[in-house]
Amino acid sequence: MIPIAKPLLGKEEIDAVSEVLSSGMIAQGPKVEEFELAFADYIGCEYAAAVNSGTAALHIALLAHGIGKGDEVITSPFSFIATANSILYTGAKPVFADIEPATYNIDPERIQEKITSKTRAIMPVHLYGHPADMKAITEIADDNRLILIEDACQSHGAECLGRRVGSFGTGAFSFYPTKNMTTSEGGMLTTNEKEIAEKAKIIRAHGSKVRYLHEMLGFNMRMTDIAAAIGLVQLGKLDRFTAARQENAGILSAGLKGISGIVPAETKTGYTHVFHQYTVRTEKRDQLAAFLKEKGIGTGVHYPIPIHKQPLYKELGYKDSLPISEKAAEEVLSLPVHPALSRADLQGIVEATKEFYAKD
Ligand SMILES: *Cc1c(COP(=O)(O)O)cnc(C)c1O
Repeated sequence: MIPIAKPLLGKEEIDAVSEVLSSGMIAQGPKVEEFELAFADYIGCEYAAAVNSGTAALHIALLAHGIGKGDEVITSPFSFIATANSILYTGAKPVFADIEPATYNIDPERIQEKITSKTRAIMPVHLYGHPADMKAITEIADDNRLILIEDACQSHGAECLGRRVGSFGTGAFSFYPTKNMTTSEGGMLTTNEKEIAEKAKIIRAHGSKVRYLHEMLGFNMRMTDIAAAIGLVQLGKLDRFTAARQENAGILSAGLKGISGIVPAETKTGYTHVFHQYTVRTEKRDQLAAFLKEKGIGTGVHYPIPIHKQPLYKELGYKDSLPISEKAAEEVLSLPVHPALSRADLQGIVEATKEFYAKD
């Protein structure tokens, strides 16, 4: 079976973990700080705060900006549930703006329509590794004095306007094993604001900077040195991983081009797509997925139910109609694109897809 995702871990990661275990310093320690400095440098921002998940990074980003009860945060309904849930955790209200059909990212025009006197922040998601329209979104944020929090959990190293995502506002990254780089579980907040970085580091450690002096309500959301040691090695490999993802995506796009009934993944001009997912669109999504599965090819649906249609959100009273997201949820299918794929794997994926549409 060709899996839809596969973390690439080698001897370097094993050695790095062994070193930490031997040191006896296995919770948050010097490796975490080293990883934060290296990650901030990679993203091109001033500060970074390591945490224990991407969800925690989003949650802390909102809290560090003082967002809570009575506030509204505009975000994408077409994402992993953690995006919107992080807003709920703070007591604020997620407000959903529909997406653009080509990139599946939040549509700036739809953001504009959702701004009210309660809006405090915009949280775009750089979905699948394709940056959201940051030119328009930063303009809207500036014009309306809104905080910008980027869900960059799928887009390590993705670029637009000559900058890496996560450096425009306060960024949140995930290092879950399926992501473009991993620490096992883990996350990172990135920012150019010193106060936000400091606050994030306080919130992740029980609201405390000085031991046993608690300034505010915090959590235990720390990263361990074991995770950070893996992250440092993976960060060193990230450019190679990304280049392999981009090359694989190119092979898939070239192979799928011209098959009628399937729309290959798109990259808009001026954007660097890091292909966390290679996602096609087809009306025969479920049939194609079943056919590929029979051929030993794993696929994924990201995501089958938009967030506003999830039982949790219906229970909360959400009745939005967001047609572009709802249609995408019925038609998207992610094909394997990860760096562990061989040429033969990619050829097999293309041939099987051609076969499916030929028999149709
Ligand atoms: C993975 C992911 C998250 C959550 O990250 P975790 O590390 O799993 O908590 C949030 N948003 C998006 C878009 C993601 O893909």
